Amino acid sequence: MADQLVWMSTPHMDPAEFRRAGHAVVDWIADYWTTLAQRPVTSADPPGTVAAALPAAPPTAGGEPVEAVLADLESIVLPGLTHWQHPGFFGYFPANASGPSVLGDLVSSGLGVQGMLWATSPACTELETVLMDWLAQLMDLPHRFRSTSTGGGVIQDSASSATLVATLAALHRASGGRWRDTGIDRRYRAYTSVHGHSSIEKAARIAGLGTDGIRPIDVDPDSQALLPGALRAAIEADLAAGDVPAIVVATIGTTSTTAIDPLPEIGAICAEYGIWLHVDAAYAGAAAVCPELRWSHAGLEYADSYCFDPHKWLLTGFDCDAFWVADRTELIDALTVLPEFLRNAASESGAVIDYRDWQVPLGRRFRALKLWFVVRWYGAEGLRAHIRSGVALGDRFAERVRADDRFEVTAAHPFSLVCFRLRADDDTNAALLAAVNATGRVHLTHTRVAGRYTLRLAVGSPQTTEAHIDEAWTLLAETADNLRSP
Ligand code: PLP
Repeated sequence: MADQLVWMSTPHMDPAEFRRAGHAVVDWIADYWTTLAQRPVTSADPPGTVAAALPAAPPTAGGEPVEAVLADLESIVLPGLTHWQHPGFFGYFPANASGPSVLGDLVSSGLGVQGMLWATSPACTELETVLMDWLAQLMDLPHRFRSTSTGGGVIQDSASSATLVATLAALHRASGGRWRDTGIDRRYRAYTSVHGHSSIEKAARIAGLGTDGIRPIDVDPDSQALLPGALRAAIEADLAAGDVPAIVVATIGTTSTTAIDPLPEIGAICAEYGIWLHVDAAYAGAAAVCPELRWSHAGLEYADSYCFDPHKWLLTGFDCDAFWVADRTELIDALTVLPEFLRNAASESGAVIDYRDWQVPLGRRFRALKLWFVVRWYGAEGLRAHIRSGVALGDRFAERVRADDRFEVTAAHPFSLVCFRLRADDDTNAALLAAVNATGRVHLTHTRVAGRYTLRLAVGSPQTTEAHIDEAWTLLAETADNLRSP
């Protein structure tokens, strides 16, 4: 009775209304997924359209039913979206959503748990530790990455955060532990290929190295992969100048073309000079759930840290980056700060993991839940089937491109990204991309390979089928015809 009074006298949504409105919202999402393919992939509206359709001031009284919000979602928000789950979405890299992931996230929101310490919610930490060990097992990662060995895994929000955290741990090592107390001096250096992701430069800047602290290493013109000889030369030059090589970030699956840096050679160089090796497999790491694609991870045993994004290609909604270290004490030593108000007996016992020491923020939400729902729903076989379908669809598209001698495939496509171009100048290729995207039936993005404008088609939406790939190809081929005969 007392409880009922509290619910009635406050403007909160009571459990009965939450149940009713929640069902309506789940129905709305299910309808959205069912009708998604009929929508244009991207919005054609000019900037400011969505903002102009929204009231200039917030409501005073409240009490609007969820149905009113859903109606505005339909009429104002949806027309202004890029539909990343659309079967014709082929841009950037995918950002998979899935039913089990959404439900796991919903449970996480409902529980409202904050897992900064083991003590603030033991199950939040322990489920995450086990899930990361499961993933390491699913991908056959080096044993050192397991929590049962010297390392362990943690869920970060993004691959960018993983790279930042790895950079901080690397600085800790390179400075012999002094960096933690004295801050950075400008002599530390980070190395990555010219195709290393922009988040590596951002991490270097945040860590105090500055953009100048990054050494961009040349790539092989055919494979677009980092040249180990050039890496060694850059390290030697820095050492000769009195600088301190701190971290090498190698990539499995670069953003431009999914090139794979040669980890065995890079790892041997890092081992020789005692440099931290971080491996960024943000998109392509998911492929390692398939035994036949694990060749892409050869040499990972050299890595001090490794990450990939289940939120890209492994059916887990944004945000979920899986990050492992081979030696957890180095990471924890680099990042731990212990104010009095967080002291507790469990932490002091040394028997528990406090994930606050493994990331930049203090607080953390219960992200392991969505991963748990996903892994239990799909199982290893279901996850493999998703990756295999993406690779097969990519291959199918590449075959179409190769069969038309007006076009060329411009890079190897070991995963589900295909880079291709018309055998024509950059402007014609840019016009082709703009024209196919303007139809609203597909969305592709571009990059430059060896300086030349190149189109990228990245398969990843769980809804994409052979028919969508064929439709995308037909659209491209017909549009190319029209471009040539105005
Ligand atoms: N690294 C690589 C190779 C990427 O392709 C991307 C994004 O596409 C990132 C890092 C950044 O990912 P996130 O958005 O998770 O920070």
